Amino acid sequence: MCRLISIAVLLLAFAGAPAFANDALEPQVRDIERLGVVAHWTESNARIQALSPQLDALSPEQRHRVEFVRLRSLGIAGSESEAIEGLAELLRQDMPAALRIRVYTTAISLAANVEDWPQAFTWLEEGLSYLPEAPEESARLLGVASYLHTFVGESGKARELALRGFEQVEAGDDPRALCFAVGDVALAEEYARNFREAEDWRRRQIEACTRAGDPIFIASGKAGVGKMAVVQGRPAEALDWAGQAIADFDAGGYIAGAWGAKLIVAESLIESNRELDRAEALLSEALRYYRNQNAELAVAETENLLARLAERRGDLAASLSHLRQAMSATEAAERDARERQLAYLQVQFDTGMKEQRIALLEAEKELASLQVTATQRRQWLLAAGMGGLLLAAILLTVLLRRSFRERRRYRWLSEHDGLTRLYNYQQVRRLGEAAFAQARRSGRPFTAIVADIDLFKQVNDRHGHAAGDEALRSLGAWISETIGGQGIAGRSGGDEFTILLEADAAEAGTLLQRLHERIEPITVFGQTFRFDISSGICQAGAETATLEQLVHEADQALYRAKHEGRNRVVCANDAAAAAARGAGLVVVGSGIQFGRHASERCLSEIREAEVVLCLADPFALAMIHRFRPDAVNLGVHYATGKDRRQTYREIDAAIMAEVRAGKRVCAVFYGHPGVFADVPHKVVQKARAEGIPARMEPGISAEACLYADLGIDPGRRGVQSMEATHFLVYDRQPDTAGLVLLWQVALSGDLSCTRLHAERDGLQALVDKLLRWYPPGHEVILYEAERLPIETYRADRLPLRDLPTARYEEYTTLVIPPLGELRDVRGLGSGARGEWPGSVEAREEPPLMSGASSR
Ligand code: GH3
Ligand code: MG
Repeated sequence: MCRLISIAVLLLAFAGAPAFANDALEPQVRDIERLGVVAHWTESNARIQALSPQLDALSPEQRHRVEFVRLRSLGIAGSESEAIEGLAELLRQDMPAALRIRVYTTAISLAANVEDWPQAFTWLEEGLSYLPEAPEESARLLGVASYLHTFVGESGKARELALRGFEQVEAGDDPRALCFAVGDVALAEEYARNFREAEDWRRRQIEACTRAGDPIFIASGKAGVGKMAVVQGRPAEALDWAGQAIADFDAGGYIAGAWGAKLIVAESLIESNRELDRAEALLSEALRYYRNQNAELAVAETENLLARLAERRGDLAASLSHLRQAMSATEAAERDARERQLAYLQVQFDTGMKEQRIALLEAEKELASLQVTATQRRQWLLAAGMGGLLLAAILLTVLLRRSFRERRRYRWLSEHDGLTRLYNYQQVRRLGEAAFAQARRSGRPFTAIVADIDLFKQVNDRHGHAAGDEALRSLGAWISETIGGQGIAGRSGGDEFTILLEADAAEAGTLLQRLHERIEPITVFGQTFRFDISSGICQAGAETATLEQLVHEADQALYRAKHEGRNRVVCANDAAAAAARGAGLVVVGSGIQFGRHASERCLSEIREAEVVLCLADPFALAMIHRFRPDAVNLGVHYATGKDRRQTYREIDAAIMAEVRAGKRVCAVFYGHPGVFADVPHKVVQKARAEGIPARMEPGISAEACLYADLGIDPGRRGVQSMEATHFLVYDRQPDTAGLVLLWQVALSGDLSCTRLHAERDGLQALVDKLLRWYPPGHEVILYEAERLPIETYRADRLPLRDLPTARYEEYTTLVIPPLGELRDVRGLGSGARGEWPGSVEAREEPPLMSGASSR
């Protein structure tokens, strides 16, 4: 049935084409338009064909009118997709609003015919936007709007729209417009299941369309009466009406209409339980036709009729099978219906707004005419008329305001976050894009702020979700209060907020300062708590291509604010400026003897840094002070009996404070800064995590000196290098075939991390563990690198068993030479003995020819 009615909308588009052009060909163009309405589409097509050699002589507007007739004919003839494409192209052309609305009207009904609902609703929305330019076309568009609303299940709304369209043309002198408007109301009543009313309107349609001389729409009226007759239990009458409709549709060449009427014939036959074979033949053909068209609703309707037919014949199996088919088509149709509903929802707000405008136009028209009448009446009538007028105006205003409020409420809900009453994420982006582009065009500054509540999970955990909600609500209110009407603020999700300002980063910083000051304790269910926020700011620069990039950079700055300890603001632009100045951290190693080991690179870093912090021996420090008197001594954090972990934390904090202040910082550590040292690695990692450039320059370590002084090549037998307490405490096993180095041997067993001197118990425990693998007499070396040119290194050799009684510095290293021979696992049997200083074993392992890469 929808197809029967949609033809009305197609035809409607042609009623009363205005005289646009004024040249010799205008009569032919008008004739084509007239034929497009009153004759079989082949006739208007033949005229278009005849006119085609002269197409170039037509004005653009005339060409559009002719093209419109051609495309509409294509649609009626069944090439709907092609017609839709053509109409979409036509709508891209420039044309007067009235013609454009007619094109929209046709395009919408064709899109609905092929069940392309998103397209239909999008066009409806666009079409409505042109109404203020051509209000005389409103009846047509209201008709098509009503038609679309029937198919999203909004039958009440569809009826209201159709009646409104009808009222517009009821008193007018356009018989064709009246014919179509009556048809719209009939369809809406039918879908609202008001069958008696629908039948009355169909009869009025036949009358009105007969006066208008419109054969196809007369046919659609007849089919409608037939349909209503059969649903109200008068199949014989229905058969008659549907038969007439089929003949009329065939004469007009409207295929879809004829198929709709055939369904009514079949249904009437089934209901009256006669000529069931004929009904079956009609339904089978119709089913083929609708399946080809992918018209699922019509397929479902046809299958349902086939099921009823089978039931009449007592063939329950066939009936069941048709019902199944009907169900599956209905499911597909429901999927489409969901799509329609979605398309409808997407545009309903805008549609609503535009309807509002139409209503206002109508109201204005009505008031104006009432005023004219009133002035012509006598004095006593004037008072009454004015009173009535006033009452009508008041009523109208009240109604309009109420519906306007409702719509505003829906619009508000779709754009705002209900909890914080700020914009939602999508709306911030939508408004933000426009504001960003505007600022770009005008060259004004534009800044994004991303703010996030600190440790908000704890608020929820400690005080409950309701308290968390209250915190979000309050923050939303404080944000709106702080920005006033100046910017765009919204909740981007969870406890994160985005604020976009046409301002520079400094102004954004001031605003955040005000916001921080505004945050006050919150009391929920008798519990009072407070919270802080961290924020990232980024001002758009020439290189900021999109709003998304800008917000991302502000988000990165927020991330840094969180890392730097929360409750603070970090400006991405400051960080970028600092990076450009070379700000950041370099950790260098001074070597064991500063004078000899410090590399050129290390020296130049110390010279060029803005801040130098040193953890080195007094001699190295003195040498550094000669050219950097401002170098800070990190050694002051050490103290006897103080937990070294605390010392490390303080050193870490001292370095990071300078780094975070955006300075170019050089931290000097003795030896190699990355060997047996946690702090240098940690500060490099932290700086990098906060987006600050950081790197480490190697230095000469004690281990490097050890190989040189003792003449050991670690590549020969391999080396195992461990902190002595670590070896003692954990389940570590020495690789006795290679070299074993145990560092900070004096502090063995010191788990308190406070001791700086050797203790016999710890050393004895270490020896006891080593005796599991080594004999007591195994010769070991106590090594200390020379720290001054005037010193010599220490390499005291002694048996393992004597270690507890030896002399130690805190930096003494225990060197355990390999024990025994290397075992050849290839099973060749020949052992190999290591060559060690002081050892006289012959060397039999393969020589190290290409060890350069491992040195
Ligand atoms: P951080 O300082 O690192 O941001 O820590 P945080 O605990 O705030 O961590 P995060 O921002 O990741 O946590 C956000 C929490 O916000 C997670 C979720 O439990 C909570 N949340 C998200 N939406 C709501 C909401 O609508 N109401 C309430 N009460 N809590 C919410
Ligand atoms: Mg948070």
